[in-house]
Amino acid sequence: MGKADPLLAEVAVPLPIRGTFHYQLPKGMAPAPGCRVRVPFHRRQLVGMVVGLTRDPQPFKTKPIDGVLDSEPVLTPDLLEAARGLARRTQAAWGEVLFSALPGYLRRGKPADTAPRSRIPESEEQPDRTTPLTLTAAQQRAFETIREAIRAERHQVFLLHGVTGSGKTEVYLQAIQEVFAAGKDSILLVPEISLTPQTIERFRGRFGHEAVAVLHSRMLESHRLMHWQRIRSGQARVVIGARSAVFAPVRRLGLIVVDEEHEPSYKQADAPRYHARQAAILRAGQAGAPVLLGSATPALESYNDALRGRATLLELPERIDRIPMPEVTIVDMRRQTGRRRLFSERLTEAIKQTLKKGEQGILFLNRRGFATVIQCGRCGQTAVCPACDHALTYHSGRQKLVCHPCHRLEPVPTLCPKCRGDYVRFRGMGTERVESELIRLFPGARISRMDTDATQARASHDRILKAFGRHEIDLLVGTQMIAKGLDFPRVTLVGVINADTALNLPDFRSAERTFQLLTQVGGRAGRAQLPGQVVIQTHTPHHPAILAAQAHDFKTFYLKEIVVRKEVGLPPFTALVHWTVKSLSATKAEAQAQTLAEQLRETMPETVRLLGPAPAPIPRLRRQSLWQIALTAPKPEILEAFLSGFLEKHRPTKGVRWIVDVDPL
Ligand code: ADP
Ligand code: ZN
Repeated sequence: MGKADPLLAEVAVPLPIRGTFHYQLPKGMAPAPGCRVRVPFHRRQLVGMVVGLTRDPQPFKTKPIDGVLDSEPVLTPDLLEAARGLARRTQAAWGEVLFSALPGYLRRGKPADTAPRSRIPESEEQPDRTTPLTLTAAQQRAFETIREAIRAERHQVFLLHGVTGSGKTEVYLQAIQEVFAAGKDSILLVPEISLTPQTIERFRGRFGHEAVAVLHSRMLESHRLMHWQRIRSGQARVVIGARSAVFAPVRRLGLIVVDEEHEPSYKQADAPRYHARQAAILRAGQAGAPVLLGSATPALESYNDALRGRATLLELPERIDRIPMPEVTIVDMRRQTGRRRLFSERLTEAIKQTLKKGEQGILFLNRRGFATVIQCGRCGQTAVCPACDHALTYHSGRQKLVCHPCHRLEPVPTLCPKCRGDYVRFRGMGTERVESELIRLFPGARISRMDTDATQARASHDRILKAFGRHEIDLLVGTQMIAKGLDFPRVTLVGVINADTALNLPDFRSAERTFQLLTQVGGRAGRAQLPGQVVIQTHTPHHPAILAAQAHDFKTFYLKEIVVRKEVGLPPFTALVHWTVKSLSATKAEAQAQTLAEQLRETMPETVRLLGPAPAPIPRLRRQSLWQIALTAPKPEILEAFLSGFLEKHRPTKGVRWIVDVDPL
């Protein structure tokens, strides 16, 4: 290597292709890592990102770069490194992770200082500034432990396990205050649907309107860009956002908080299939900052990490002001008949009392639509999606049958498509049915529904919650959308219409999910002075997950469940990868799955186990046939090394796609 060798830019591109590519730079030009460039790529032009500079000669002929887009990096060195680690761990391309960290405008190559076309609407209610609350003894202990790591600028993972209403948010606020006072930046991740005006205003009230930036997927792209710019310029030093806010371009990261860290929505469904908790830990590790994970129902993995010393456990075992946990009643629905199959006598009575006292109730059912089974009363044929192997749900609002996995709409049949019989029955219940039945049973009550159907319009989600907060709604029906974060003092009743919806899923986490959902939704009741009650309707009243939720006993649930996971060899004791083979041709999908399994078996290390291939849980989706292979190993590193080697050498055959999901949920 001599002085004469030209300077090359090492560039990552936003494609699912492993490795980076080298391009020649014009004399005197040396864009810093983190700057975007335009590069020629297989007769196309792409926006790529510089990840390094080198004069090392390359084995292949290099092309000159088309242009440099940034004079200043759009991603910081800690982010470049964290993205690389995340790509390795999730078997995604580095470029895929890097570009998912950027707002859409920048992904498309627009200048980073583009003035967004619209301005952020001034919040109608400028929140009143609030002062920190005097912490309870338990909050104080937790806070001081975190503060020590913040002051020492030390990377350390904390798990704050606090029951619902124990004041976790105040601990977050004061920890962030500590970072803020030191002139550094904080990121608070929340699940998408708990990113309500209530949450945002709480933070704006403490740090000022200007200091807080918000990033989530429901906002206009131009607003996203503006918030991104405010963060990058240092104007906003507290970032609140959903999953992808973990990549916010803060300059001096002092803390990442992951609220409701057990939430499945932290895992991204498309490539790069990362988990925001994992991304937070990687990034904070690069920046030398602590991570604070918080939950009333920690993920088994996180709690296990805490017990094994990989995270520091902090506990808030009581509600603020010693407010009691709500009383939980379990109703055995196997004994209910007729109309009582929707609302038991016990729940009907509880709703009646709640309304009479002028209090509010939340009714939870994790299923959308009106009827979930459409079946011919004569031949037994059920309505399924023409593009998927999946039953259709009847939505009364839209007057259509809907396929939930693919969103396809079908007309409502009056005749059975198979036997032409005219006795089509609608069975099974969703939130629309619960709502209409409530209206029938309680004619005077003000009833609203909140699920993805009811909140199609922008901001309708916030509008319903505001109305509920002002007590313009007595009973709120909804899916898991209403299970989290809501803090309304007049809610004294939570009714779970059917606790078994999640238990019946073919997923080893179904018990854990059920426990989490019941605890979270139940935790909305009786958060202030008025005592709360929870009524859980179920066909499996003795299930450990339901009993543990009744007793508000995370620890017992954890200890039982972790034994099962260990015996069966499931996470957190084994690393898991789901490999899906997808094709429009059913024969191709199956043949490829078989070949792939053979190739994997031939080359995999001894400690790796392979299950399958088998048809995926939904075997046909959007006309594609899906087959699945599961791989397990005692340690994630084993799978990581094996898979990256394998994927470098193997490609799917034509007409087939592979989806490799590491640590699937
Ligand atoms: P969690 O997030 O743990 O469910 P929140 O943070 O929503 O609980 O707190 C529950 C309620 O208690 C909120 O209304 C909050 O304002 C209040 N609160 C929290 N900490 C304190 C405190 N130290 N003193 C008085 N009230 C508090
Ligand atoms: Zn479908």
